[in-house]
Amino acid sequence: MDVDVVVLGTGGAGLTAAITAYENGARVALFEKSDLVGGTTAWSGGQVWIPNNPHMAKLGKSDSAEEAITYLMSMSNGLIDADMAKTFVETGPEMVEFVEKQTPVSFVCVPDFPDYHPEQPGAKPGGGRTLECPTFPYGELGAWRERVTRSPYWPDSTVMVGETTLCQAVPTPLDPEERQRRVDNDERGLGLALVGRLLNGCLDRGIEPQTECRAVELVVENGMIRGVVIDGPEGRFTVQCSNVILATGGFDHDAQLVKSFLRGPLDTSVAVASNTGDGLRMAMRVGAMLGNMREAWWMPVVEVPTTSAGKQLFSAERTFPGSIMVNRTGQRFTNEAANYNAFGAAFHVQDTGSCSFANLPCWVIFNQKFYAKYGFVGGYADTMENQTTAPDWIIASDTIGGLATKLGIAEEALEATVARWNANVAQGHDPDFHRGESYFDRWWGDPDLKGQVAATLGPIEDGPYYAVEVKSGAIGTKGGPLTDTNAQVLNVDMDPIRGLYAVGNVMASPMGMTYGGGGGTLGPAMVFAYRAGRHAATRN
Ligand SMILES: Cc1cc2nc3c(=O)[nH]c(=O)nc-3n(C[C@H](O)[C@H](O)[C@H](O)COP(=O)(O)OP(=O)(O)OC[C@H]3O[C@@H](n4cnc5c(N)ncnc54)[C@H](O)[C@@H]3O)c2cc1C
Repeated sequence: MDVDVVVLGTGGAGLTAAITAYENGARVALFEKSDLVGGTTAWSGGQVWIPNNPHMAKLGKSDSAEEAITYLMSMSNGLIDADMAKTFVETGPEMVEFVEKQTPVSFVCVPDFPDYHPEQPGAKPGGGRTLECPTFPYGELGAWRERVTRSPYWPDSTVMVGETTLCQAVPTPLDPEERQRRVDNDERGLGLALVGRLLNGCLDRGIEPQTECRAVELVVENGMIRGVVIDGPEGRFTVQCSNVILATGGFDHDAQLVKSFLRGPLDTSVAVASNTGDGLRMAMRVGAMLGNMREAWWMPVVEVPTTSAGKQLFSAERTFPGSIMVNRTGQRFTNEAANYNAFGAAFHVQDTGSCSFANLPCWVIFNQKFYAKYGFVGGYADTMENQTTAPDWIIASDTIGGLATKLGIAEEALEATVARWNANVAQGHDPDFHRGESYFDRWWGDPDLKGQVAATLGPIEDGPYYAVEVKSGAIGTKGGPLTDTNAQVLNVDMDPIRGLYAVGNVMASPMGMTYGGGGGTLGPAMVFAYRAGRHAATRN
């Protein structure tokens, strides 16, 4: 096989890069390691964070590149390259217009979804930067309909983000007729909507992903890409090409890479299992400089034995009123309602005396009243009928002291923490960790109390009391080969390796340690994929 551009990986980054390269005149081949396409993108909420996007104006929401750059750079801590941030922000609207014009992708703003640090300068508390696709009829994909991976974390794929429990304790039920119409039409939402639409864009151009084809080695001569070696179902073969776009996802599922690079514990990842850092290793072998290696898109995760994945992303129940999180000393240690990525910072705090991570292990604590109202991780009102007490896998006790003993925490420590929490809640504030002060906390809290401090501050009074361990997890790693603004991989001398690109979670993320807003990973992934595809197809 002899092509101009080889794209490795079929997540949001890879599919976008393949379409863009083709539209700029390249002959494109697309390889996927797994037997199914879509990667973690297909498992995701499918939200895409694009500041100053063309859909905001239609809703009367103002934005500008300057505001977005100010916002990102205000959280840089020296890790965000200003040119990369500027390029991301300035190219975002163009990428949106390109995919909407050239493919079945169409976006709408997720209603009012606030940026994740809404009090930072340049933030948009009122939302607009977070986009998602309407549900997509999978019949359009023909034989590819059953070849897209399905998320164990979103069992109901007929919905859009605005219709899910993501930030609603009791979801607004989808009109039954509309739900039936979507089921009959095999319409899938969230990440599946994004992947289905991008995949359709590839298939329309004759770019057929070749599955069970794992890229294993780059062929480089005189500092230039000459091909890539693929392990396919019928053996190993080499594709001749002058450009390779790595879109192989993060290194979450490679224990050695995790140990070598991440700044603190990653107990569990919810990314697809095939993301084992292949692109990173290939790039390292040909001399790539690395960047942002310590970072991941952090996410608290709880183990839920009753679900198919055995674990679930953990956001709502730590934000709703009447729950707190404590470490092994029985102390609260952070604002429980903070955005999920921010938890990485709380989990990685070290206790200098004992040389251990101060806040691991940790548990979320709540009581029967909380459980009866909100359930726990997926056990929302519609599935909670007739359920009066928590299931056996949730640690329970009739007293706070009894719960503490079961967790190995000193009784009086946990009792004092709960008493202090309740006293502060009665005063309507959290002087210890400022929970409820950010607009974000009040938006993600109980939807019936949206906007009020009471949406997230509530007492833990009568028993029985419950605890579930919360793990340090991630939805993907975000370090990898360092690139220039066209996503060209740089070598250790900071010169481009000609013809080699990295996009999505395999690249050194231009976002540093931040997560700008809902869609904060897929936004940059698609923007730099768009730039890589165009550059690879048109460079001399
Ligand atoms: C439940 C959940 C919800 C999420 N919601 C959102 C959201 O709403 N918005 C957002 O921005 N982010 C979200 N994320 C994170 C987001 O899904 C990822 O950050 C994003 O999908 C990464 O895209 P990618 O294209 O880089 O990688 P992926 O989508 O993971 O794709 C990488 C692909 O490369 C393939 N591959 C690996 N190695 C090779 C190889 N050697 N050869 C060929 N192919 C290879 C993999 O099999 C995989 O298919 C969510 C994640 C989860 C789990």
